[in-house]
Amino acid sequence: MLVTKTVPPIRIKEAMDLGYSLFGENRVQEAVGKYAGTDLGRSEIPIIGHLQRNKVKPMLRFASCLQSVDREALVVALERHVDPSSPLDVLIQVNTSLEDSKYGVPPEALWSLAERVEQSRHLRLQGLMTIGRLGASPEEARPGFRLLRELRDELLRRGFPKATELSMGMSRDLEVAIEEGATLVRVGTAVFGTRPTSDLDYWPPSRNG
Ligand SMILES: *Cc1c(COP(=O)(O)O)cnc(C)c1O
Repeated sequence: MLVTKTVPPIRIKEAMDLGYSLFGENRVQEAVGKYAGTDLGRSEIPIIGHLQRNKVKPMLRFASCLQSVDREALVVALERHVDPSSPLDVLIQVNTSLEDSKYGVPPEALWSLAERVEQSRHLRLQGLMTIGRLGASPEEARPGFRLLRELRDELLRRGFPKATELSMGMSRDLEVAIEEGATLVRVGTAVFGTRPTSDLDYWPPSRNG
């Protein structure tokens, strides 16, 4: 997946012309503005950032998938707006690096959230997502990626047969993520170059730099 937050539409169009069709966005407001009136062709736009409940409705106008389900209140808000005749694909975001990250469900709370999503006619649980630990070296992300894979395997054993996806790995740690079994890597900087520094709003900066 190409992550296109802060990337202007003209560059996204270039990527589309090269055959890419999966574009991850963090912020609903930014994405709505960018894609309104754009011919997306067969492109898909998953949302990969923390979602406020009041952004659910505008998100549903364009998002193909929500990768950042992390709490029951969000599930409730989704049920209010998703048409059960076309359920929304979702991933549950797990916080695999508790000391660094403020988003994602803690691993021990995954099971009840997964049950809750699975019971919903409005949502289809496709797997798990995590942001790797932003440490000094990509290797520091490995234990979190491994944990996500183990959690996914346990989900499959517990009777969530469709929860196969492992969305993990970004520009700096995608090789490690792939070694640990990622089915989807989310790449921004390595393709589009460095983003503006306001980018740090998108997730909490690491204490380790
Ligand atoms: C920005 C972002 C990415 C991509 O990060 P890069 O380091 O630019 O590859 C991936 N996942 C999420 C959730 C992001 O917010």
